[in-house]
Formats: sequence, structure tokens, C-alpha cells
Amino acid sequence: MNIKKLNEWGWDFTDPLLIAGPCSVESEEQVMETVKLLGETNKVDIVRGGIWKPRTRPNSFEGVGEKGLKWLVSAGRAIGKPVCCEVANAMHVHQALRSGIDMLWIGARTSVNPFAVQEIADALSNGVDVPVMIKNPINPDLNLWIGAVERILNAGITKVAVIHRGFSSYHHTKYRNQPRWELPIAFKRKMPEVPIINDPSHICGRRDLLQEVAQKSLDLDFDGLMIESHINPDRALSDAKQQVTPEDYGKLIESLVLRNPEIKDTTLLDELRDEIDGVDREIIEILAKRMDIARAIGDYKKKNEITILQSKRWDTIIKDRMEQGKEKALTEDFIQELYNAIHKESIRQQSKVMN
Ligand code: PEP
Ligand code: MN
Repeated sequence: MNIKKLNEWGWDFTDPLLIAGPCSVESEEQVMETVKLLGETNKVDIVRGGIWKPRTRPNSFEGVGEKGLKWLVSAGRAIGKPVCCEVANAMHVHQALRSGIDMLWIGARTSVNPFAVQEIADALSNGVDVPVMIKNPINPDLNLWIGAVERILNAGITKVAVIHRGFSSYHHTKYRNQPRWELPIAFKRKMPEVPIINDPSHICGRRDLLQEVAQKSLDLDFDGLMIESHINPDRALSDAKQQVTPEDYGKLIESLVLRNPEIKDTTLLDELRDEIDGVDREIIEILAKRMDIARAIGDYKKKNEITILQSKRWDTIIKDRMEQGKEKALTEDFIQELYNAIHKESIRQQSKVMN
């Protein structure tokens, strides 16, 4: 596959690549002022701005639409930097390219949908070869993300990058979108030639966490950052809590420590540890699922007056799991100990339902 490196995209980028700009283009003054101040930080390679906003609920600000394209382009030209905006359908692609937008990105709510990605890919298959950045889909599905990249590559685009913006979850946690670092790491392993950019703004959802996440991504050897910045963040019409002033953006970038190439080999250790964290999370989720089933069985046994311990069934389970373990080079002792613990907990959970 013909994938160009960031330094072959035709602009003079720094390493790491720095993308900054407002979540949304709101007015000509807002975008001109924000971008002018961002330019003064000397820490921007590409200017971003949302024109059409995919909002979770209707009746929120849905972007200024086509008229904002020329504001964004003029703001970028004024500081001599390329500009990018999100596209979600063929019409967006045509309008953006007609207005002089230099690069496009596909948002997380679009990369999740192969029909939409294919529509964008088709709109791009006329040989324009504009750079396209593909955000991870909102759900943690590595193949869906890779599939979106493949559709864009198949359209003949050679300048692609991906953006890690985290994954949504039902539960409220520290982050707006869970970073699930093991997914971008796995992506890097599957498609090492595709540059990977971290978007701490959409992961964090709040400005006080940006530094920590941005630093972590650099420690994991990401190729760049995309950070939302607004002239007056608290008055922003979208994503107010996570945006920073251009001045604070400059300070944030200044505070990041670039990993010394000599100690880069520890990156692999960090990556492997993050992968382990991800696998462990899955183990716990699967164990919890197993206990849900155990409780349902407990409920059934209670209604039908059956005893909890069914030793014959248990003997069959152990024998079968030992064989499975052997196929995967796991020792018998390990499987035995593991299943003793699982069994104990299952009985505990079943007794809770039955008593
Ligand atoms: C954005 O970049 O403003 C945006 C809508 O991002 P995401 O697709 O990551 O939610
Ligand atoms: Mn945003």
C-alpha cells in the first residue's frame, strides 16, 4: 500500500505534528482571532475547525455550515498554515474541497458507519489525494477502525493518518471517552505505516486533564496531537469544558516532555503494559458475565429446588477446561487453581440468590 509519511505530505511539519483550533467555527471573528493567537504560539502545524457538528442531542449548536469554510480558510492563510475540517458525507467533501480546505478528517460517529465512510471514499476517488485523518469509531472495535482506513486508502488517498479520541462508555468515569490505550497500540502494530495522532480534548472532556493524556501519548510514541482551542473557551458553543485559550495551549505544548530517542526502547515496555491492562479489563468483564449467568442458574435452582453443588457437572467442567488449557499451553495446575477460585465465587454468588 502506498502510504506517505507525514514529512511527505507537502508541508513543513514539526515532530510531533501539532493540530489546534476551535471545536467549532462559530463566527468569522472567533476563528480569525483564535487562529491568529495560535499562530503566535509558533506551535501549530495544522489548524482545525468544525463546520458541521455531529451533536448527540438535537437542538444543540450544529455548526455554521458552508459559510464557515471561507472563514476557516482565510484564518489559516493568515498564519500560513493548512486547515482541516470534519466531513461526514459526500456533500461536505465537495463543499470543503471547493472552498480550499487543505485536509479532511472523519469523525468518530462517522467512522463507525461503513456506508458513510464509503460515501466519503467515493467522493474522494477523483484523484485529489487530499490528506484524510480518520478518528477511531466511538465503540472499541479495532477492525472497524482499520476498515475505515482501508476504504479511504482504496479510494487512492496516500496521505492518511488516524486520530485516537477515546471510546464512549455508559458509565461516567474520569474521562469523557475512555482512552483504552491498548486499541491505538494494537492499531499501530497492525498498520505501522499510518501516523497516529492523539486527541486529548475529546478523551478528557475537561481541560485540567489534557496535559496528562497528551504526555502519555507522546510517551507511547504517537506522531502528533490534536487539541481544541478557543479564544473564549467558557463561551464556546460546543465542547466548552475541554477547550483552552491559545495562550494556555502554548503553555501546554511547552510543558510536554519529548521522549529522548535513546530511551525509546522503554516505549515497548509501556505498550506491552498497556496491552496487559486492556486484556485484564476484558478478563474482569468476562468473569462478571460468568457470575451473572451463575446467579441466573442459582435462581433456576431455587425455583426448581435443586441443590447448588452438582458435583458431576463440576467434574465435566474441570476435565473440559483442562483440555482446552492444554491446547493453549497452560499448565494443568494453573487451570485447576483458576477454576477452584471461579467455582468458589460461583457458589458464593448462587447462594446469595438462593438464601
Ligand atoms: C470534533 O473533533 O470536534 C469531534 C466532533 O470529534 P469526535 O468525532 O472525536 O467526537
Ligand atoms: Mn469538539
